[in-house]
Amino acid sequence: MKKKGIKIIVSLILFLIAMIINFDNELINKGIFIIAYIIVGLEIVRKALRNIFRGKVFDENFLMTVATIGAFGIGEFPEAVAVMLFYQVGELFQSYAVDKSRKSIASLMDIRPDYANIEKDGKVLKVDPDDVKIGDIIIIKPGEKVPLDGTVIEGNTSIDTKALTGESLPREIAPGDEILSGSINISGLIKVKVSKEYGESTVSKILDLVENASSKKSKSENFITKFAQYYTPIVVIIAVLLVVVPVIFFGGEFSDWIYRALSFLVVSCPCALVISIPLSFFGGIGGASKMGILIKGSNYLEAIASTEIIVFDKTGTLTEGIFEVQKVNAKDIDENDLIETAAYAECYSNHPISLSIKRAYGKQIDKSKIKSTEELSGRGIVAIINGKNVLVGNEKLLNENNIEFEKNNDIGTILYVAIDNKYVGNIVIADKIKEDAKDSIMSLKKSNIKQAVMLTGDRKAVGENVAGILGIDKVYTELLPDGKVEKVEELLKEKSEKGKLAFVGDGINDAPVLALADIGIAMGGLGADSAIEAADIVLMTDEPSKIVDTIRLSKKTMKIVKENIIFAISVKVLVLILSAIGISTMWEAVFADVGVSIIAILNALRVLNVKKMK
Ligand code: ADP
Ligand code: MG
Repeated sequence: MKKKGIKIIVSLILFLIAMIINFDNELINKGIFIIAYIIVGLEIVRKALRNIFRGKVFDENFLMTVATIGAFGIGEFPEAVAVMLFYQVGELFQSYAVDKSRKSIASLMDIRPDYANIEKDGKVLKVDPDDVKIGDIIIIKPGEKVPLDGTVIEGNTSIDTKALTGESLPREIAPGDEILSGSINISGLIKVKVSKEYGESTVSKILDLVENASSKKSKSENFITKFAQYYTPIVVIIAVLLVVVPVIFFGGEFSDWIYRALSFLVVSCPCALVISIPLSFFGGIGGASKMGILIKGSNYLEAIASTEIIVFDKTGTLTEGIFEVQKVNAKDIDENDLIETAAYAECYSNHPISLSIKRAYGKQIDKSKIKSTEELSGRGIVAIINGKNVLVGNEKLLNENNIEFEKNNDIGTILYVAIDNKYVGNIVIADKIKEDAKDSIMSLKKSNIKQAVMLTGDRKAVGENVAGILGIDKVYTELLPDGKVEKVEELLKEKSEKGKLAFVGDGINDAPVLALADIGIAMGGLGADSAIEAADIVLMTDEPSKIVDTIRLSKKTMKIVKENIIFAISVKVLVLILSAIGISTMWEAVFADVGVSIIAILNALRVLNVKKMK
């Protein structure tokens, strides 16, 4: 970029000298113009020739080369140089703009760790994160990046997860806490037991995702590529006709019409469109990742602007997923035993319910007592503990196993427990609605979203209560995972042809729905792996307000894209007509072209400044 800048300046100085000073011999002026042209334009002429040999004849390099060399041919030396100069200024500007938005994505790339400190035989070695194995102990010093996911076994510190979540508040970390790669250790030295290999760690997944995002093209981008394919040859044909027809059939002045045709070629360069549209998407994706929103492709960024129906999972999505035990109703069994049995059964599950029960139990689980456990999505757990058959789950689970039980009608999620086919009591747990859930649903409904729907496997009473508080339009309760798939299929039929359906889930047992929806949004990418894979958009924090941000960003991107398309095409068409009928000069043509490109690019960069809801 620097080199190009210098070339432009040198060429510009020569150009000005040749313009201002009238040397005795006119050949000197012409010579200086030619040198100025070679300095700034040789690169373009070369590119044009190279592309011709590669079969890509009609590109912008070709247009510029033909137009400028043609200008020399008809004796318009200053024009030839000016066109090339301005074109290169535009190019310089473009690479600056691309660079800027690339940097915003690169700042995210900055989370890539260079090494991991590993302790071996009392010595600390720096190794490639790729070489660290699961179970290894790594040491992370203050100021270092966390290279792999793991559990802290020693030391307290605070970590900065801004690159992952967009959240600027540091998080306090103590032994026992899980820590994710990509965050930065701020204050203390910690030892971490690695739980995932580098390739499976959060940081690699995020980087893969961001690197591949721009390869998935939006419809608008595909349109532009197609457009340029047909557009350039058509323009060249028109330019040729512009010379041939008037001169041969109507006795027009050759030099006059060739000048018009050449100006026509200059304006016709579709640079503004070709560069600014992908740049807008690129900027949108970059801006989103800064906010902790990972968008897997321009196509999704484009699609989410036209969301008509938004479907939420309840637990962990609209609610915290942190259940608290409200009441323990034990029957012929000690209360503590009831909780213990439930915690043992839930031992291997990651479901929010399970985590809460384990937390309520609070003691170490002796895994040798557990013979088997099986999680039945949307129902609960079947396990063999201490040689006894244990069931922990909802009414469905007990009904399916023909176990008689007393129905509990309290508000809350009820976990029924049975041991050896005998009902032994229930545990009432309740979840909290997320703080920003209500505001988020309200602002979604104010935008062009027609329906906010909630799907849950939880009880009717709980589901309807939550939906009522949040102002959800439709709620379907007591659904098994395949029931959620069915409902989403039904809802997909309800939307208009252009409208989109987005599903927001936490990635726990809703991967099929994430994949089925037009746009699958997973929340809390910081936890569930399956979420990062199944979803099209991953919100790194659990806040519903991020959905509002995503839609806002998407709408802004699409607005900018549309503005740029309309603006560029209309200015082009206008100047094309003016130069064809001989009103606009080649100078104006260049100004129009470079000007449109620059304005379009500046406009595209605005997408980086979308405000957050919170
Ligand atoms: P949601 O649709 O709200 O995310 P899920 O489909 O994950 O809820 O679960 C639906 C219901 O299935 C829960 O409310 C609970 O009654 C039961 N359930 C699911 N997983 C478990 C589990 N690990 N332990 C006990 N009950 C469970
Ligand atoms: Mg769920």
